[in-house]
Amino acid sequence: MKPDATDGQIEAVVRVIDELGFKPHPMPGSTRTAIGITGNQGPVDPSHFEMLPGIADVIRVSKPYKLVTLDLLPEKTIIRIGDATIGGDNLAIIAGPCAIESRAQTFAVAESVRRSGAKFFRGGAFKPRTSPYAFQGLGEEGLQILAEVRESYGLKIVTEALDEAGVDLVERYGDIIQIGARSMQNFTLLRRVGRSSLPVLLKRGLSATLDEWLLAAEYIMSEGNYQVILCERGIRTFAQHTRNTMDLAAIPAVRRISHLPVIVDPSHGTGKNYMVTPLARAGVAVGADGLIIEVHDRPERALSDGAQALTPQQYEQLVSEVRAIHEVLIPAAVS
Ligand code: PEP
Ligand code: MN
Repeated sequence: MKPDATDGQIEAVVRVIDELGFKPHPMPGSTRTAIGITGNQGPVDPSHFEMLPGIADVIRVSKPYKLVTLDLLPEKTIIRIGDATIGGDNLAIIAGPCAIESRAQTFAVAESVRRSGAKFFRGGAFKPRTSPYAFQGLGEEGLQILAEVRESYGLKIVTEALDEAGVDLVERYGDIIQIGARSMQNFTLLRRVGRSSLPVLLKRGLSATLDEWLLAAEYIMSEGNYQVILCERGIRTFAQHTRNTMDLAAIPAVRRISHLPVIVDPSHGTGKNYMVTPLARAGVAVGADGLIIEVHDRPERALSDGAQALTPQQYEQLVSEVRAIHEVLIPAAVS
């Protein structure tokens, strides 16, 4: 749509798309709204729209992903939750323990996260563990502790849902729904979060290609939720010196294709405490919109992912370093 298109003109275009039996996706950008069309088999005749008031251009998107692509929306998406943003000029920091283990542990970490100036707190109440005998998370009790953190510190809560019932609960207590690497191609779950009003943090699958990852985002968006944050968290390779291989080239690669914000997770990306800070620095340097970092007040006692957890002190040092790196990049803002 043209930058000065009115709401009424946007609604009229949406109506025409509806009447043709297709699905309209009005996506507001910072200067103009793009309206995606899905549900069509084969090309749509552009003459249906060209003459409608407020239309700037009718573009055919030949890519497999229609809504994720910059062809549709050539401006970066900014996710806004109250005063917190992901995407745009700010560096978003999401930090907290791998798993919510207790109120005391959670609050000890949240204290540090708040002190660092981060706006987002992470922590799993439902944990996708490799072994069925490993700690699976506190479930709803964990979400209640997270809600207390939100109440006490004003931090926005990022937490994982493993299944559709979990999404219902996360919607009640959280601010951003995390879809874990192991769930990236759980298409029923993707469609469910696509119908949520909460933003979705979509982790890259353990061995997902860029296209598979972007098509997973497309699943969510195809249901009408355009608030998707991509998260590179390392992939499986032959390397044995790390838990996963952080694919830093994925950041500029995504940037070239998509308007969605993309963040990095150097905790799961390396699996080793001493590598988290160097790879966090690198992630910011390649242009990530933010970081997600695991922090534990007593890493040696952590019930999951202790080897990659930073102490509060290490984490706070990391934040001051990455903020300095980010300052150098603005406003070059890694196009
Ligand atoms: C996590 O964030 O704790 C987690 C389980 O991440 P991933 O899905 O990337 O392994
Ligand atoms: Mn973890």
